[in-house]
Amino acid sequence: MLSNIRIVLVQTYHPGNIGSAARAMKTMGLDKLVLVNPRTFTDPETMQLAAGAQDIIANARIVDTLSDAVADCVQVIGASARLRSLPLPHYDEPSAMAADAISQAHSGPVALVFGRERSGLSKEEIRHCSHQVSIPANPDYGILNLSQAVQVLAYELYQAWRRGQQHHAKHNSDTPMPNREQLDSFHQHLSEVMRLSGFIIQPHMQTQAHLQALFARAQPTCKELNILRGVLAAIQRQLPTDS
Ligand code: SAH
Repeated sequence: MLSNIRIVLVQTYHPGNIGSAARAMKTMGLDKLVLVNPRTFTDPETMQLAAGAQDIIANARIVDTLSDAVADCVQVIGASARLRSLPLPHYDEPSAMAADAISQAHSGPVALVFGRERSGLSKEEIRHCSHQVSIPANPDYGILNLSQAVQVLAYELYQAWRRGQQHHAKHNSDTPMPNREQLDSFHQHLSEVMRLSGFIIQPHMQTQAHLQALFARAQPTCKELNILRGVLAAIQRQLPTDS
């Protein structure tokens, strides 16, 4: 299942960090690296620090936006040292995150997303995540170097996989799970019906964030999401057309 887990680095500044992250991944059996708009990618330092993991760099996918990197994923976990005010489900323990990620990886790709060295992940980027995880650390200085954060979480994933926790998978390949694109389209539909029905008058980010967190916790299957879409479509047919 490790093959279904990808590491996504957002706008990495130091090319050495990309190499070190690739090495951290390979030591823990991960090989899918996606780089979102890195500052530089062809720097020799990347290859030096990748050492025996240069194949991961050579096969890395480079994309323009975080949404491109995770649209097909069934779970997107943002790694963040500082908690934002967004109400997303949060793993305080990396081991709990790893057990869930290995389980979810049976149904489709899972992404672990890491932010910029200076500013981490933006609020907008965290909105593309279904969950957040923090590595517990010194309260006075708990921010790890980017590639070291990758190492710690990759280690947890490898341990969860090694212990065979995948056998306790909640979901298996017979239960298709929606990817981010399908969930985003559901949330758009939900917002539209909330607006047309008069529940909200204009797009309301906080309400939407709460509903996104609710569905991230519930982890609806494709079948359940289709039922909800059917309900929304039925309500929509009873409403006056858009004004
Ligand atoms: N100055 C940034 C931190 C950047 S460190 C900030 O305050 O947000 C670069 C990345 O490493 C972070 O975006 C995060 O993905 C990861 N990281 C560093 N320390 C972490 C921690 N304690 N828990 C989870 N992720 C961490």
